[in-house]
Amino acid sequence: MRVSQFFLSTLKEAPAEAELASHRLMLRAGLIRRLGSGLYNWMPLGLRVLRKVEAIVREEMNKAGALELLMPAVTPAELWQETGRWEVFGPQMLKIKDRHERDFCFGPTHEEVITDIARKEIRSYKQLPLNFYQIQTKFRDEIRPRFGVMRAREFVMKDAYSFHTDKASLEQTYEVMYQTYSNIFTRLGLQFRAVRADTGAIGGTGSHEFHVLADSGEDAIAFCPDSDYAANVELAEALAPTTPRAEPAQAMQKVHTPGAKTIEQLCDFLKVTPQQTLKALAVMHNDAFSLLLLRGDHELNEIKLQKILDPFRFATPEEIERHMGGKAGYIGPVGVSVNIIADRAVTAMSDFVCGANDEGYHLAGVNFGRDLPLPTQVADIRNAVAGDPSPDGKGALEICRGIEVGHIFQLGNKYSQAMEATYLDENGQHQVMEMGCYGIGVSRIVGAAIEQGNDDRGIIFPEAIAPFQVAIAAIGFDRSETVREAAVKLHDELQNAGFDVLLDDRGERPGVMFADLELIGIPHRITIGERGLKEGQVEYQARKGGEMQTVALAEVQNFLK
Ligand code: ATP
Ligand code: MG
Ligand code: MG
Ligand code: MG
Repeated sequence: MRVSQFFLSTLKEAPAEAELASHRLMLRAGLIRRLGSGLYNWMPLGLRVLRKVEAIVREEMNKAGALELLMPAVTPAELWQETGRWEVFGPQMLKIKDRHERDFCFGPTHEEVITDIARKEIRSYKQLPLNFYQIQTKFRDEIRPRFGVMRAREFVMKDAYSFHTDKASLEQTYEVMYQTYSNIFTRLGLQFRAVRADTGAIGGTGSHEFHVLADSGEDAIAFCPDSDYAANVELAEALAPTTPRAEPAQAMQKVHTPGAKTIEQLCDFLKVTPQQTLKALAVMHNDAFSLLLLRGDHELNEIKLQKILDPFRFATPEEIERHMGGKAGYIGPVGVSVNIIADRAVTAMSDFVCGANDEGYHLAGVNFGRDLPLPTQVADIRNAVAGDPSPDGKGALEICRGIEVGHIFQLGNKYSQAMEATYLDENGQHQVMEMGCYGIGVSRIVGAAIEQGNDDRGIIFPEAIAPFQVAIAAIGFDRSETVREAAVKLHDELQNAGFDVLLDDRGERPGVMFADLELIGIPHRITIGERGLKEGQVEYQARKGGEMQTVALAEVQNFLK
């Protein structure tokens, strides 16, 4: 490919709202352009990267025996009503009506649709196990889309769903998927870690998340370098920040807050300012932390606090209020209370306030763990700080941050039961299928890779997903016949040898070419100039650093291999 025939649109500066390095660089390099909140155009350069990620995911899934299919992005409400998720999903689900006023949603995930396929198509135990997957566009109306494609509203996911006669078969496929995910992230050239994830209200026996390690990651991970123990501690951390681990400034107090129906009114009573400190809001239901959508509706307790806290982390009280339909001050029946949780980064647990399980009262100065029970699922690592003994007793814990790029789940029969997905066993009896599901954030990976690979000059792509592997910077392309000939010849040779090569034929000054080629993260650069060519030589520079090297023109191909 030649730059003159391609479309490079690099920027000197990124828009101010881009907070993360990856987001800034994706905009500056012209990989993506913003269309609206959480909506991005993938420009030709960015799409090359996305497609390479997809290809690796697809190859490894195929290798693992999974079968690709494609389901509609728009899905009928009836399916979601069968499992109750039409309500449970809440405002994350984009609901749509067709011309006949029938309800649909733009699928945020596809368990219901695939289970519908399974119950209609799978008859006998002889057909099982089966693992179907697709690579497809999802829509989740995230309350706070941010970080570009990393938390977008429309994004590309690889989602797989497996069907089994029994738990043993499910566990086997789960193992295969675990290994497949490890292969995928290794091939992608990412530093990652698989961590135990909370199965929460979905239940099931096992769940792991795969995290790309990066300081900017939204999740905290506790791991033991001396064993394979690793767990997502975000939930624990959100509720019991590890630093400072201070005693509360004040003891827990019950404060009379008569008639407080809004955050503002509550803050008034509790003498805290929403504008400065109140960033998150969740509901505590006994010791299982779940979001009840502030409707006092116990049926809705499946959405984990973990998932809810995050979008609220940077939300303003007004946004929370709007999201909650003006019911932010709702105080539910006994056991349900409203917590207003300050930004965990700046405020110790002791500054939190929460409802007091009594209509008209709230608590101030609460220290979870001391004053209220912590969620049981995370009890083992709830206060983990670096250096603490690992729960498996095999060493000390370390804490790092990660970006969730994959999530695998043993679902059990949650969906198959609700939707009556059964098969006939050896005795001709109907049995409910066991299910697993396995997601990868294909488009998020592009951001995560850049978060892990960048410097002050731009992106440093891993070889496997760089938009081009090799760049040829031809100095004087516009004026020197020698340079032109050598550059085009080298370009054609490399391309024929199977390299993805980009020839900068713009005739720009070296500084301009280098800046662009470095910004867009091409791993290898060959510089061709008249002076070097006189000796039959070109210069080689690796994007990830190291000295510039002189290489014989005739040897370039071997050198790159
Ligand atoms: P998160 O905790 O980041 O909100 P999730 O747990 O809600 O993610 P899953 O339901 O597990 O996401 O979906 C599978 C994968 O899809 C995730 O591991 C993640 O990589 C990706 N993903 C989820 N939400 C988004 C999003 N808003 N933008 C981009 N990728 C996403
Ligand atoms: Mg998650
Ligand atoms: Mg989510
Ligand atoms: Mg997940």
